[in-house]
Amino acid sequence: MTTTQTPTAWPENVIARYFTLAGPSVPGATVDLTHEDMSDTAKATRATCNCCQESGQFEWADQYPRHCRPGYVDYQNQRKGDYNARSWAQSHAETCRALPAPSPAEPEPKRRFWLPGQRTA
Ligand SMILES: [Zn+2]
Repeated sequence: MTTTQTPTAWPENVIARYFTLAGPSVPGATVDLTHEDMSDTAKATRATCNCCQESGQFEWADQYPRHCRPGYVDYQNQRKGDYNARSWAQSHAETCRALPAPSPAEPEPKRRFWLPGQRTA
């Protein structure tokens, strides 16, 4: 396993990423913003700190009925959810001193049982 300082590719659904106090030199020390479905009609922007696992969910002001088009529901305030999530992420990133948990060590190679019958040499 290699540890590099180069930024890793963002997961597909991450829309924004903030460095925590640990800074760019620590891999994984970020707060990530993602969009998530809360239900069929509700969506939210979630900010998750990868260091302390704290997260905040910022629901979009969905169910925004249009009076001129009855029955039409618009996710009009995605911006609002994003904005709230961003400000949470920004202020959390500025204060979070937690370090990301080290990635799990490589699992030990599977030990082969020594079976007398399998010996060939
Ligand atoms: Zn944190």
